[in-house]
Amino acid sequence: MSSDISGQTIIVVGGAGYIGSHVCKALQASGAVPVTFDNLSSGHEHAVKYGPLIKVDLRDKAAILTSCGDYKDASAVVHLASSIEVGLGETDPAGFYNNNVIGAFHLLEAMRETGLNNLIFSSTCATYGDTDQMPLMEDQTQKPFSVYGKTKLAIEHMIQSYHKAYDLKYLTLRYFNAAGADESGEIGEEHDPETHLIPIALAAAAGLRAKMKLFGTDYDTPDGTCIRDYIHVNDIAQAHILGLSKFGQGLKAAEVNIGSGEGISNLEILKLIADVTGSSVPYDAAPRRNGDLTRLYADPGLAKELLGFTAQYSDPKTIIASAWNFHKRVWGL
Ligand code: UDP
Repeated sequence: MSSDISGQTIIVVGGAGYIGSHVCKALQASGAVPVTFDNLSSGHEHAVKYGPLIKVDLRDKAAILTSCGDYKDASAVVHLASSIEVGLGETDPAGFYNNNVIGAFHLLEAMRETGLNNLIFSSTCATYGDTDQMPLMEDQTQKPFSVYGKTKLAIEHMIQSYHKAYDLKYLTLRYFNAAGADESGEIGEEHDPETHLIPIALAAAAGLRAKMKLFGTDYDTPDGTCIRDYIHVNDIAQAHILGLSKFGQGLKAAEVNIGSGEGISNLEILKLIADVTGSSVPYDAAPRRNGDLTRLYADPGLAKELLGFTAQYSDPKTIIASAWNFHKRVWGL
């Protein structure tokens, strides 16, 4: 398919990961060439199918500079590589700041030295913190609760400073809960260890794990469980395609929520999983998980206005069915 970005080379840092592989597939479908930079610490070589793979670690400043130099004619950099497990961040802040913040600093410096000047950065709704003001708008105060959210906010600030001082053009996308898988079933969510609700609940429904833990049943929500906004990974990928085309149309700097705009509770997700798989999800009520916020869902208005983005595949049942399709293949069911 030809598009505004057809023929462009795009560096995708973290292209071997869950969201990164879907972004690379969407880039290839748009006629662009995705070049994956990844250290394969959590990403998978088998998920890099849509363009070349450069093995490089963001913590290695000299190596990232060399790699950016090799691709200095790329039109943009998409930065998705980071440590993401909220619980782990609470016990290993050093690892999170090193990988996320220092890594992003090395990338920004390498971009500055090599003249790469357009950046899409994956941020998160976890940068907002606990608030009753839902849906979340982009100008909401950012007071992240988790170490993970704090590292992402630190990077947002660094990028804003580079824009002001060095004229870096950027689009920060604050994702809500990425979920689902490409309809081909060839790529999907494969974290190790897996900490996310939908793949864990699917494994429990499939009988591949005994009982899952439902973290927190005493939240101030209608059924006592947390509320999240699930956005299909292919919708997220599409937001990147739209964002990249905006650089050619004069985009300079923006922070934009990428969510469906709909909140759904953890228990409602478990019910939908039972509908889709035909098996109920065995679970035990467990204490709240450190770092978790009560409710998070997006106001998707700015994404529509600025990028022309609306979620297409993010009905929760569609998301779960696509994830189930992928996991059935991976699990040999
Ligand atoms: N969750 C749960 N059990 C699990 C994994 C997650 O109850 O085994 C809950 C988690 O506490 C949160 C929601 O599911 O309330 C979504 O968590 P997830 O890790 O999928 O995404 P996050 O919102 O942390 O980015």
